[in-house]
Amino acid sequence: MTQSISTHLGAFVRAESGRSPQDSTLREFWAGLSADVMARLADNWDATRKRYAEGRQEHYLSAEFLEGRALLNNLTNLGLVDEATEALKEYNLNLSDVLEEEPDAALGNGGLGRLAACFLDSCATLNLPVTGYGILYRYGLFKQTFENGFQSEHPDAWMEEGYPFVIRREEEQRQVVFNDMVVRAVPYDMPITGYNTKNVGTLRLWKAEPLEEFDYDAFNSQRFTDAIVERERVMDLCRVLYPNDTTFEGKVLRVRQQYFFTSASLQEMIANYQAHHGEDLSDFAKYNCIQLNDTHPVLAIPELMRLLLDEHGMTWEDAWEIVTQTFAYTNHTVLAEALETWQVSIFERLFPRVLEIVYEIDRRFRLDLAERGCDQGKIDYMAPVSGGMVHMAWLACYASFSINGVAALHTEIIKRETLHDWYEIWPERFNNKTNGVTPRRWLNQCNPRLSALLTELAGSDAWVSDLDKLADLEHFADDPKVLGWITEIKDANKADFAKWIKNRQGVEVDPTSVFDVQIKRLHEYKRQLMNAIYILDLYFRIKDNPEANWPKRTFIFGAKSAPGYVRAKGIIKLINEIARLVDNDPVVSEILTVVFVENYNVSPAEHIIPAADVSEQISTAGKEASGTSNMKFMMNGALTLGTLDGANVEILDAVGEDNAYIFGLKEEELAAYRAQYQPRQAYETVPGLKRVLDAFVDGTLDDNGTGMFHDLLMSLLEGTNWGDPADVYFVLADFPAYRETRDRMALDYADRDAWARKCWINICRSGRFSSDRTINDYAREVWKIQPEKI
Ligand code: PLP
Repeated sequence: MTQSISTHLGAFVRAESGRSPQDSTLREFWAGLSADVMARLADNWDATRKRYAEGRQEHYLSAEFLEGRALLNNLTNLGLVDEATEALKEYNLNLSDVLEEEPDAALGNGGLGRLAACFLDSCATLNLPVTGYGILYRYGLFKQTFENGFQSEHPDAWMEEGYPFVIRREEEQRQVVFNDMVVRAVPYDMPITGYNTKNVGTLRLWKAEPLEEFDYDAFNSQRFTDAIVERERVMDLCRVLYPNDTTFEGKVLRVRQQYFFTSASLQEMIANYQAHHGEDLSDFAKYNCIQLNDTHPVLAIPELMRLLLDEHGMTWEDAWEIVTQTFAYTNHTVLAEALETWQVSIFERLFPRVLEIVYEIDRRFRLDLAERGCDQGKIDYMAPVSGGMVHMAWLACYASFSINGVAALHTEIIKRETLHDWYEIWPERFNNKTNGVTPRRWLNQCNPRLSALLTELAGSDAWVSDLDKLADLEHFADDPKVLGWITEIKDANKADFAKWIKNRQGVEVDPTSVFDVQIKRLHEYKRQLMNAIYILDLYFRIKDNPEANWPKRTFIFGAKSAPGYVRAKGIIKLINEIARLVDNDPVVSEILTVVFVENYNVSPAEHIIPAADVSEQISTAGKEASGTSNMKFMMNGALTLGTLDGANVEILDAVGEDNAYIFGLKEEELAAYRAQYQPRQAYETVPGLKRVLDAFVDGTLDDNGTGMFHDLLMSLLEGTNWGDPADVYFVLADFPAYRETRDRMALDYADRDAWARKCWINICRSGRFSSDRTINDYAREVWKIQPEKI
């Protein structure tokens, strides 16, 4: 299809709306334009799929893909933005208004799911034969609203009104068998376009459907509810994305989901292998590699064993050989509570045969370790099954040929602690793959002003698919004209944000103030509470001395809390109350504004990140595996205010101490610090801290009688009766250094040229944080795949 968009747009819109374009809604224009895009990429998509099916492929299994919006991404990749803009003008419409009609495909919780989305983008751009597999959740991550400052959750029916970017592939459905039900797994494919390439990758999302639409006999005999009960039970399987990325809940359904999508994906891989390479599956691992994105897809290990043993008649030894050459596992966390374990009884109920296989893996593992001379205590600890639980991470480590962490520090910690015993036995399996983010969405698309400057200075847009090229622009750091442009661009982006947030939430922000941003899931280890304590302290300091030279600041938050995570919800309420306190004070509100962006998600991130001056990356050292928002901010010229945690360490390494603001206890210091740490002493002696913490409970801030703020205070000052020490995450310990560094940073902002210089160095040195670099590392060192350009 080579005709311009304007030739066809009217027809596509008519097909969507069933009326003339003049009478069609913006939403229908979005759907029509999207359908046009789908028509344009269809042939290349098909050609890419066929090409990839022939050779060695990598399969990326992930329970989450946080894709966000697709239309602009696809228009950009296909070079159609200007054409679309022109075509819409003929109907007196703005492209940006049409784009705002698109729901976010929020099939993920946060970093892990967004990483998977960035990876697919890079694989497409690099022409790598990689397919993503996940679940078509009917409801994505919940929609968040604030009711009197409290988080409230609502269903996110993201595709209920139709979603043109997935295609149902009825003919490629599979069956997944549970002990208590058999379901059809119907694939819905989403095209993943790359930049400057014809290749189009695939994200395959499985939907569970009943074998029979509904029970016709029951319906005929007027038992209407009975008729649809079974159907609903099956549909439950894909109904929701678990909004809880750290603890475990809804166990049976979650395990069911995991088995469902891994089994369907494996069946497809086997069928594809047989179609191209013959019935004999001996060479399966030669043509297939499977990356497990965290432990959610680890059931693929015993399931591949089952398929090879039971359905393809292999011996255990041959099957195990294939399995251990096929799987690679990415660990995403050092938090013990986030390493999945499931009761044996759940497996027993859902798939006894898989359990039998897990037991056999366990039995052989125990023999293997005994032969290696391990003592019984160690064997019991490391075994896939112990204490009535299946340990998914241990299963993954035993069966995978590659085990990786997601930032250098994180990989060191898993080798030293979390997975130390495995590292001792199989050191060669361990490797690091520092995360990355796609510069297409997170720079080229979300920050058009900065992108235009980069393209102009570089003389081409080659940096968009080779971000290391930005290093060649670093010398402009000494060009006052360029520094002036950088400042102008940031100011214009901030003005855009101000309009956006006014329109969205009715909040006024001053674009000349320092935009200081913390956007990420709400978790105690990420320490939004420390950020909040700083703001409250600053509030009191301004009240004490309103005439001092206080820089104007806007503090921006975005965060969802898991619905059952009461303390995290308390922190959301606290920040909203501080926002109200500041806003109601005639003096302080002239200097400070606190904005909590409701329903933080990918598309809000695209508005916020280009406008940020300060990137808050303040997790307790050793707790954040990598972080990826830190990279997005850096790429867009925000300076990191951070601890030496996750990929912050590598950002600091890239930009140097003069171009980042680093503070706080280091990971290796924490254990010794804990031994003598007395949070109460900090409360009594750190100037200003007592009045801030007292304000939680003395009536200054109102938690509406929930006791939430008292609980927050107690979490800092008293241990819990279930054994947590006081201030587990060292908030009060790091507070003085945080305050000093953050104060200094705000003052530094006044010298806009010096600030712009630092921003520029951050931008130019962000090349290593492109997901293209990460994916090239995986492709070369783990997946052993080559580009397959169509
Ligand atoms: N949520 C969204 C919508 C994101 O875009 C990102 C990554 O940038 C994250 C969560 C993860 O943020 P962080 O790396 O700060 O935890």
